[in-house]
Amino acid sequence: MKIIQVETFVLSNQLKEAFSFSQWSYSERRICIVKITTDTGVCGWGEGYGPADVIKAGIELVKPVLMNQNPLENETLWFHMYRKTLDFARRGVLAASISAVDVALWDLKGKILDLPVSVLMGGQHRKKVVPYATGLYFSEGNNLKAKLVEEAKLYVKQGFKAIKMKVGLSIAEDIELVKAVREAIGNDIKLMVDSNHAYALREATELSRAIEPYNIGWFEEPVSPEYYHQYRELRTKTTIPIAGGECEYLRYGFQTLLENDCVDILQVDICGAGGLSEAKRIATLANTRGVEIIPHVWGSGIAFHAALHFIANIEPLPGRLHPPEIYIEYDRTENKIRETLTQPSIEMKNGFINIPQRSGLGIEVNEDVVRDFSTKILV
Ligand code: MG
Repeated sequence: MKIIQVETFVLSNQLKEAFSFSQWSYSERRICIVKITTDTGVCGWGEGYGPADVIKAGIELVKPVLMNQNPLENETLWFHMYRKTLDFARRGVLAASISAVDVALWDLKGKILDLPVSVLMGGQHRKKVVPYATGLYFSEGNNLKAKLVEEAKLYVKQGFKAIKMKVGLSIAEDIELVKAVREAIGNDIKLMVDSNHAYALREATELSRAIEPYNIGWFEEPVSPEYYHQYRELRTKTTIPIAGGECEYLRYGFQTLLENDCVDILQVDICGAGGLSEAKRIATLANTRGVEIIPHVWGSGIAFHAALHFIANIEPLPGRLHPPEIYIEYDRTENKIRETLTQPSIEMKNGFINIPQRSGLGIEVNEDVVRDFSTKILV
């Protein structure tokens, strides 16, 4: 059996309403996905996290490494893709290109062997996970606080047990918004905040201390991902757990975060950091230091299902009769591609999402949707 085709697609959808976070605004969802097909007609799908057009170019770069090769030797192929890109981009977007291919190869392997990806990875430590709602972004207008309160209440009504909101407007505004959301959802719902590295250490410290009374589950990306020492220092200054890692790549980048005691919660993005193969290695590194992993998830149902299988396979930390639940990030912002690209659709029941038990990632990709959202823009 050999790989005979590697096709990339950049999917684009203009949003009805733009939304913002501390760094910039989104008015479009733009996603790069890849389809890998064998000479026996089986295909696997993957997705990259990051600038879609550049990820597409990166996949074209590694394509010669994949053609005519045995898809079952996916970790060997991972190594050759890494070697092909190492001299030009030791971190960053080419790792997302490798990630997309790696996820597609795991999907393909699962379909060929008729096993769910998480079983292929070594087994399922859990059959269901707790999704947390990612939303509560900033928007235009004067009534942001009222809008956020309404949105947070909607998530509670929908059955979410945990919600993440954006901070990073200004310390004073952040405090006011966090207080309002906490009061609206009550004390039984877990509430996390994410500044997308908006703050200097002094500011992040001030904000952390001010929102400690609101029982914050974690403070995500409080400072710049470049400043490992600031992450470490902030952890000594607040009781709020510190989370980060969505801007980090490969085992080598995560080793730096871990060696510097930067985070309580490591947020590897499977479709950016090196795929399922590399995320498993990163999970092993985190385990050696007793650091919890809750992956960063963004994009379509392909990325979401890759994360479900990864989470299923993470060892409980610590092991015990009733081990702690692992959360999965579930983006609730407008995304037509996420809603329509894959089947079955993502379903939450009693506050949980089940780990898929079908072969591969456990999803079918609707190729009509791929065609409808595909762009013709050249890189
Ligand atoms: Mg984040």
